Amino acid sequence: MKIVIIGSGYVGLVSGTCFAEFGAEVTCVDKDKSKINKLNKGEIPIYEPGLDDLVKKNTDAGRLKFTDQIESVASDTDLIFIAVGTPSRRGGGDADLSYVYSAAEEIADLLQGFTVIVNKSTVPLGTAREVKKIISEANPGADFEVASNPEFLREGSAIEDFMRPDRVVIGVETERAETLLKELYRPLNLIEAPILFTDLESAELIKYASNAFLATKISFINEISLLCEKSGADVHSVAKGMGLDNRIGKKFLHAGPGYGGSCFPKDTLALIQIAKRFGVTSKIVESTVEVNDNQKINMISKIRAALGGSEEGKVIAVLGLTFKPETDDMRDAPSLTILPSLIQSGARIVAHDPEGVQEAKNLLPEEMIYVETIDDALSNADAVVLMTEWNQYRGLGLERVKNIMRGNIFIDLRNVYEPDVMLEYGFDYHCVGR
Ligand code: NAD
Repeated sequence: MKIVIIGSGYVGLVSGTCFAEFGAEVTCVDKDKSKINKLNKGEIPIYEPGLDDLVKKNTDAGRLKFTDQIESVASDTDLIFIAVGTPSRRGGGDADLSYVYSAAEEIADLLQGFTVIVNKSTVPLGTAREVKKIISEANPGADFEVASNPEFLREGSAIEDFMRPDRVVIGVETERAETLLKELYRPLNLIEAPILFTDLESAELIKYASNAFLATKISFINEISLLCEKSGADVHSVAKGMGLDNRIGKKFLHAGPGYGGSCFPKDTLALIQIAKRFGVTSKIVESTVEVNDNQKINMISKIRAALGGSEEGKVIAVLGLTFKPETDDMRDAPSLTILPSLIQSGARIVAHDPEGVQEAKNLLPEEMIYVETIDDALSNADAVVLMTEWNQYRGLGLERVKNIMRGNIFIDLRNVYEPDVMLEYGFDYHCVGR
C-alpha cells in the first residue's frame, strides 16, 4: 500500500514512520525544506523517544522517504494523509484551517486512480466535507473519497501510543474507503486494538470531545487543589481516592501549573467556537479554559508568596520549560506565562531543560539565562521552581541541592516531592494543593 503524508511534524512524522513499520510504502512531505533536508540526512527534527531508531530502520528498508515536492508523489498513491497544523486563529480561538485547505488545493490536480484523502489533523466538524468540495471543484473527474482519522498520540510516548492505541477512530462515507483503511490498520488486529468506524462529523468531534474532557479533568483537580490549600486537605490523597473509582479513573488528576502543549489549549478554544457555530454554549469547556488560565496566574502568585512577596532581585532556578517531559515542544507551555511575568517583576531566571532550550529561546524573554546542567541552574539560586517533571528532576540529591543553592526555597509545581521529607532537608517547600 502506498501512502503520502502531508506535514511531517509531531503527528505526520510519527504516523508515517509507524505506517512504514506496519509495512506500507510511505512518503512524508513537508513544505519546510530544512526539515526534509535533515530527515534525508538521518536527523530527526523533533525530540521524540525512539523515533530516530524507527525512522532509520524504515528508511534503510526503503519503506520510508521524505520530500518537499508533493507533485512527485501524490499521483501514485492509495492514501494521502493531511497532518498539517491547525493552530488557533488569533483572537477568537477558531481552528485555523488554512494549512489543511492549501494541502487539499495542492493535491487536487495531482490525483490519479482511486485515492482516499484522510484528515489526520484535528479539525472542526465539516472540514472533511470542505476538503472534498475543494478537490471536487478543482478536479471534477478525480476518483477520490475523504475520511477523518484523528490522531490521539501523546508527545513523549507517541510511538507506543500509535502502535498500541486505546482505539483508532475513522470517519468514512463509503465501504470503499473503509476497506482501504481497515487494510492499512490491519496490523493492529493482532493486539486487538478497537477500530471504530463512524461518519465523518462524529470522528471529527470525538477528537475535540476527548481532548476537552481530559482538559476538564485537569482543570477540575486544579480547582480542587485550591480548596485543599485553603482547607488543609491533601490533593494527592483526594486525587487518589477519586481515581480508585473506576468510573473516574486516576489519569489526568494531577494538580499542577495548568495544562499546555500543542493540543489541549487550542482544541478547547476551538470546541467552544465550533459549538457557538451550531448555537450551543459549552459552559463546561469555557470554565475549563478559564480555570486553566487562572491556574497559571495562581502559580505566579504562589512563587511570589514563597519569595516573601516580591521576586525583585531574586535568582530563581527553573527546572523544566517544556509543557511536559520527554518532548521539546514548548507550545502553550505554562512556563511561557509564568516566567515572563517573574522576569518583568525583576527576577533573574536561570533555566535548565533537557530538550526544550532551543525552542524556549525563540519564545521566552531574552533576559532568560539557560544552563547546561542542573547544578549550574541551582548554584546561587535563592529559590528553585520545578516546572516540568522530567525524570532528571525526580531524583534530585536533596542534600546536594540544598548545599549548592544560596537559599532554601523549593517550589514544586508538579508535586514530585513529599512535603515532610523536604522539611527534614531544611527546605522552605511549596507545592500545589498540599
Ligand atoms: P506540527 O506543527 O509539528 O507539524 C505540521 C507540519 O506541517 C509542519 O512541519 C509544516 O511545515 C507542515 N505543513 C504545513 N502545511 C503544509 C503543506 N501544505 N505541505 C506540506 N507540509 C505542510 O504539527 P503537529 O503537532 O504534528 O500537529 C498536526 C495536527 O495533528 C494538528 O491538527 C494537531 O492538533 C494534531 N495533533 C497533534 C498532536 C501532538 O501531540 N502534536 C496529537 C494529536 C493530534
